[in-house]
Amino acid sequence: MDMAARLKAVRQRISLAANQAGRDPLSVTLIAVSKTHSDCDIAQSWRLGQRHFGESYVQEAMYKQQKLAHFPISWHFIGPLQSNKTRHVANAFSWVHSVDRYKIAKRLSEHRNENLPALNICLQVNISQEPTKSGVLPAQLPELAESVSRLPHLNLRGLMAIPARTDDLAQQRRLFRELRSLYDQLNQFNLDTLSMGMSNDLEAAVAEGATLVRVGTDLFGTRKVEVDGLRE
Ligand SMILES: *Cc1c(COP(=O)(O)O)cnc(C)c1O
Repeated sequence: MDMAARLKAVRQRISLAANQAGRDPLSVTLIAVSKTHSDCDIAQSWRLGQRHFGESYVQEAMYKQQKLAHFPISWHFIGPLQSNKTRHVANAFSWVHSVDRYKIAKRLSEHRNENLPALNICLQVNISQEPTKSGVLPAQLPELAESVSRLPHLNLRGLMAIPARTDDLAQQRRLFRELRSLYDQLNQFNLDTLSMGMSNDLEAAVAEGATLVRVGTDLFGTRKVEVDGLRE
């Protein structure tokens, strides 16, 4: 399949899942996760109408953002974020999905240029409660949301999760429903974003209310580099 066919297939999966859930397909935005893939791949999908792109590695993203400076792309940072990399991320991206500590949020807010609109933030939740995974634990989420929501140059929009991988649809839905329920409990913050669902589980995520789905493999093919953070 070429890029046009893959993009079309993923968009159709999203529309179908939305329709089955009685949701407007336009309420779900596709983020093309382009990490490890080239700026040419991004430009090609841009020409096919794709506008939101997700990157996980700061150096790699900087390189592509320079190459693609003439494309008004909406860049989403979705990878683990170290505090010495916050300056670039704060200004070159419109969204950060992976905030799981106040320290990082505070630095992003401090570094965000005054002339730019507030940086959109999702708090990453360790929904499967795996000890080695990033993300705030559900029990600590309300306190983090409270403190992040007070930061002046950030706009707290919602929650993100990467549940443990499984092919069992019921299990996929159960974990996404948990994220949805945490989201509902934070209604005083006027959240509007649930960033959940990837190539393997986007149908379950859309069924449970995802508004941003992050798809890499099924758009760009398998990645050569699979280890998180290897390039940092
Ligand atoms: C890599 C990555 C994705 C895309 O995963 P695929 O399974 O390739 O669709 C989505 N979200 C995050 C946070 C990622 O790191």
